[in-house]
Amino acid sequence: MARHIDILEHPQTAIEVATATLAEGLPIGLPTETVYGLAADATNPAAITRIYETKGRPRFNPLICHMSDLAMAERYAVFDPISRKLAEAFWPGPLTLVLPLRSDSGIHPLATAGLDTVGIRVPQGFAGELIRAFGRPLAAPSANTSGKISATSADHVDDDLGERITLILDAGASVVGVESTIVKVEDGEIRLLRPGGLAASEIERVAGKALKRSKKASAAIEAPGMMASHYAPGAAVRLDATDVLANEVLIRFGAPDIAGSEKAVAVLDLSTAGDLSEAAANLFDFMKRADATGAATIAFSHIPDEGLGEAINDRLRRAAAPRE
Ligand code: AMP
Ligand code: MG
Repeated sequence: MARHIDILEHPQTAIEVATATLAEGLPIGLPTETVYGLAADATNPAAITRIYETKGRPRFNPLICHMSDLAMAERYAVFDPISRKLAEAFWPGPLTLVLPLRSDSGIHPLATAGLDTVGIRVPQGFAGELIRAFGRPLAAPSANTSGKISATSADHVDDDLGERITLILDAGASVVGVESTIVKVEDGEIRLLRPGGLAASEIERVAGKALKRSKKASAAIEAPGMMASHYAPGAAVRLDATDVLANEVLIRFGAPDIAGSEKAVAVLDLSTAGDLSEAAANLFDFMKRADATGAATIAFSHIPDEGLGEAINDRLRRAAAPRE
């Protein structure tokens, strides 16, 4: 069983126990503003191997390396002017930059899946403080079995991975609720590798140019988190529902008129006010709650593709994709 430490009640103990656990090469459940991470020392190959094993994650899928601040990130990667501008505008926050790795960086190739680039993010709040105290970057994918719904609470982490890790830090529900937005600057263009918790329009506003939403095949290799089936609940997923069928949970956005709502196994409202940030924060928890009813299918009403809706719809399309 994993030990839980509440970071609000016991911040100092949390830092001390977490840094000691990380120094032993063990991964920990770490709250961040996006989702809970399964974090380990990015310079320690045994520690990174444990992340892949704990999640059952394919090793060709690189991990995001978390830093305490931009100065730390500059020791590990080379920043072009646009990337630096984005880092200054949005870090700490839900933005991951894919950057050329410095040859002497010390980040282990297992963390980057052998690529000559590294995905870097500076998380808000406690996670950043922990990295500062630890002094080394933390590689951290989401704290869930590979391909399943991401964890947005300490209980989610415990339910899924509690038997396989020793420590889970608890900071309550993740505020953003979906993973970071991943971009890569190439030849002055900004490519969106994964939509996420920072709206693409925010990045475009600061960069003063449109993002490239590349469909090219290499995106599949550079961003394997973008595999077709991902974020998958046990139940089937049906999108853009305008009615409710037998044995379905209905997850609504806004206050849509959905025929047959009264016969749904359960009805959950992502945001009655139609607020996409609220919907993103509720998304994974509601998927887990819907799944726990044992219903055959989770039906989602339409969610607009603007702002954080782009990240939500990306997750839902993968949740609905045919499973292997
Ligand atoms: P997650 O699955 O949430 O842990 O997100 C990690 C994702 O970050 C991977 O699936 C990749 O999409 C992306 N990523 C991490 N490092 C790199 C990299 N060096 N190049 C491209 N994408 C990366
Ligand atoms: Mg994940």
